[in-house]
Amino acid sequence: MRSMFNWLKKLNPYRHRAFVRELLALRAQRGPYRFAVREWRGISDMELARRVLEVESFRSEVQPLPLPVEKLKSILVLAPHQDDESIGPGGSLLLASKAGVKIHVLYITDGAQTKTDQPANVRFVRAQEAERACAQLGAQVHNLGISNLAPKPSLDDVDRLSNIILETKPDIVMAPWLLDWPSKHRLVNHLLWLAHKRSGIGDFEVWGYQVHNTPFVNGYVDITTVAEEKRRLLECYQSQNRFCRYDHIAMGLAAWNAHLFESTPDPRYFEVFCALPGAEFFQLVADCYFDDLSKTYRGDLSVIGGLEAAHQAVMRESSRGKNRHKVRQSEEHSTVRHYLWRRPERITYDPSDIKG
Ligand SMILES: [Zn+2]
Repeated sequence: MRSMFNWLKKLNPYRHRAFVRELLALRAQRGPYRFAVREWRGISDMELARRVLEVESFRSEVQPLPLPVEKLKSILVLAPHQDDESIGPGGSLLLASKAGVKIHVLYITDGAQTKTDQPANVRFVRAQEAERACAQLGAQVHNLGISNLAPKPSLDDVDRLSNIILETKPDIVMAPWLLDWPSKHRLVNHLLWLAHKRSGIGDFEVWGYQVHNTPFVNGYVDITTVAEEKRRLLECYQSQNRFCRYDHIAMGLAAWNAHLFESTPDPRYFEVFCALPGAEFFQLVADCYFDDLSKTYRGDLSVIGGLEAAHQAVMRESSRGKNRHKVRQSEEHSTVRHYLWRRPERITYDPSDIKG
């Protein structure tokens, strides 16, 4: 027993986790599936994923096209957190910046975190890291400052987002791809929709960028010539790379994206996007996100509850015809038809369902 105790003491936290996984793997050998479910509430967006997959815009015949990132006038990147703009479209922004495109980055949340291994002043640290990354990008920084721990966007926040779009006049708004899994990444698309609904903004394309999973790729940017610069950009975010090597992961994603294209003798790196005209993007958000928010936000009660006031206010305005613009008839219809604010149901399960 004593030797077992001494042996355990030698384990560092990472070894501990690996050990727990090995135990779970042993247990899984006796069950039908070789995995352990960590959080059941999170596995709730299968239906949403299926519906987005079935949308006509993303048929399997789609041939991704190069996106004219160097020919634009102005890009506005909506980044949920201080690093998403670099992990996702960082290489494209470097290319655009070199070509003289005006770049704006709007950070939606304040970047607060409760991870115990983070410095106490994490918001300040992340803001500084973002300033450094944006300096490399030649980008102007904007902040919405919504709490990352308990996001509760107000109508003022929605209007500030509209105003930044009106002021910066982007040809392209970049936002996390619709099905990127973190709830605060999906929140960004929701906020953009609310801004559109309330103020009529939407005269731009929306390019959904890749952070945590692959989008339906209909556009790409070959970032091979700036791959090393992108790596350095990602190194600005030491506070985040400490616990997850996003610098490593993002370069891996960009390398993996090369499988979509003809192979060449030299390694190549690509950033991929789901690029849609504004009107289609807003239609897709209305059709896919609002049916059941507990599924869209994968049971994240803080985001669902936090969004409710602003969303309901915009919908009430809309039903009274008070919006400052006239929404397209079809969109209004689909929103009313699909819109239901269901309280997220707690998903329960019987552990005996998992044999083992
Ligand atoms: Zn993020």
